Amino acid sequence: MLLVCALIRYGEYGMMPVPWRCVESWICVACGLCCHGYKVVLRFSEWVHIIRKYGMGVTQPGLSKFFLGKKGDGTCIFTSKVLNAWFCGLQSMKPRACKLWPFKIFSRPKFGRSNEAIYKYQDKDLFVYVDPACIGI
Ligand code: SF4
Ligand code: SF4
Repeated sequence: MLLVCALIRYGEYGMMPVPWRCVESWICVACGLCCHGYKVVLRFSEWVHIIRKYGMGVTQPGLSKFFLGKKGDGTCIFTSKVLNAWFCGLQSMKPRACKLWPFKIFSRPKFGRSNEAIYKYQDKDLFVYVDPACIGI
């Protein structure tokens, strides 16, 4: 659930990620939104593991990165619908970008509001934001 500080942010900046303190709770409701319309960037090691198991055809090259492939309707090549819920068929080697979604973690306050985004982890200051497009918040 989003708190008032996040709603103010909507008004000013549209769907910009909001600091984690603006989110009261989160649960994945398997709506599948995050597996539609987004390009999933792969780290090199993730790309190697995936093509070894599934072949080159499940990924797409970019200028300097590799992405997960998509079906004709724009959904991730590994997503499928069962009844009313969407499931990931890549659970055993799900890319980090998918594991973290809808959270985004940086070593600097990339989207501002550092006081609300800061999260102290061991001896480090991390800055954590949440993508408000996720309907589970
Ligand atoms: S958009 Fe949010 S609620 Fe929907 S499947 Fe993705 S993480 Fe879950
Ligand atoms: S790898 Fe799984 S979680 Fe990531 S976009 Fe594809 S189906 Fe969704």
